[in-house]
Amino acid sequence: MTSKVSIVPCTDYSLAAEGIRASVDIIGGLSPVIKSGDRVLLKPNVLAARRPEDAVTTHPAIVSEMCEMVREAGGIPVIGDGAGIAFMGATAEAFVASGIAAVAEEQHVELINFQTAGFEKVDVPGAMHFPQLFVSKAVLDADVIISLPKLKTHELTYYTGAVKNMFGALPLKHRKEMHLLAERKLFGEAVIDLYSVAKPHLAVMDGVVGMEGNGPSHGNPVNTGVIMASYEPVSLDIAASRLIGLDPMEVPTTRAALERGLATCKLEIVGVPLEEASVKYKPSNGGILFNVPPFITRIFGRYYSVRPEIDNSRCIRCGACVNACPVNAVVCEGGKLSIDKERCILCYCCREMCPEDAVGSDRSLLAKVLTNA
Ligand code: SF4
Ligand code: SF4
Repeated sequence: MTSKVSIVPCTDYSLAAEGIRASVDIIGGLSPVIKSGDRVLLKPNVLAARRPEDAVTTHPAIVSEMCEMVREAGGIPVIGDGAGIAFMGATAEAFVASGIAAVAEEQHVELINFQTAGFEKVDVPGAMHFPQLFVSKAVLDADVIISLPKLKTHELTYYTGAVKNMFGALPLKHRKEMHLLAERKLFGEAVIDLYSVAKPHLAVMDGVVGMEGNGPSHGNPVNTGVIMASYEPVSLDIAASRLIGLDPMEVPTTRAALERGLATCKLEIVGVPLEEASVKYKPSNGGILFNVPPFITRIFGRYYSVRPEIDNSRCIRCGACVNACPVNAVVCEGGKLSIDKERCILCYCCREMCPEDAVGSDRSLLAKVLTNA
């Protein structure tokens, strides 16, 4: 089977509306994926609390126009993501800094914080590493998922795009477990375990300004001038990695998806020819942890932890955290609440629900040093 991938020129975010419409229209529009009344989850990359011009996060202009297009197609747009692993409350901050919260407000669209909106355990048939995974309820509840990645290099996976963008659907515990696999190939396979149960129906990539070098957050913005779209996220990733001068088979998520038979490598480019749109990106230097042997990475990872902790002096015993916890990890003994570390999946629903701000964070020494806490 051949998948279409569009490449449409778009040199400035003021032209994003036209660019995104053209990129989706020339592959066949939204009607093949959206039915009237569908709940359509727009999943931008809101990795961290960074401004749009930093090129870390999907630009708000792209997300805003997708809201309009989904509505015109008869769907009900919602926006959701879970930010990176640094600290509790990271997603809420990232929504504001990236301009995504403002888009949700202007568009009157529900904004879902994956970190705190709950997770459900799902079976992963044919898993390579995780036969069961907790996945964001918002992702599982959506009728249609649209991945809105940012075109970037990545220190671990070399490139990050439509497939890796779904990583935000995992609670922090799984993200850490996957990173602790400490090898690119294994990490790519684990991300594909997730992708196999949370596969977007459409991917539209913000490649207007991408990021080269030490992405996904420490590289440099680079004017690339494209918006790309495909119903097949792996095909989009193959085309986008070629566009930035990277062999797609070096990207561990792409290789693992093809090996699992979850995609085809036959694709048809529509719009601008790939060679014409190509902008060679500087590669990442491989990151701090991934330039050292895997056993060192595992040791580092084990000593890095940020865990919820209940301050019993503030707690009024309302029980909201007990009810919110999806894995019954909040336990009460001798009239005091505590969190069972073995069960906890680091979703932070307990913190979100607490009316007294009694759920704080317990950071390991390494976490304090790395986050300047
Ligand atoms: S205790 Fe439960 S609700 Fe709180 S972070 Fe852990 S898993 Fe989530
Ligand atoms: S939600 Fe907060 S105040 Fe209520 S029981 Fe839990 S820690 Fe205590």
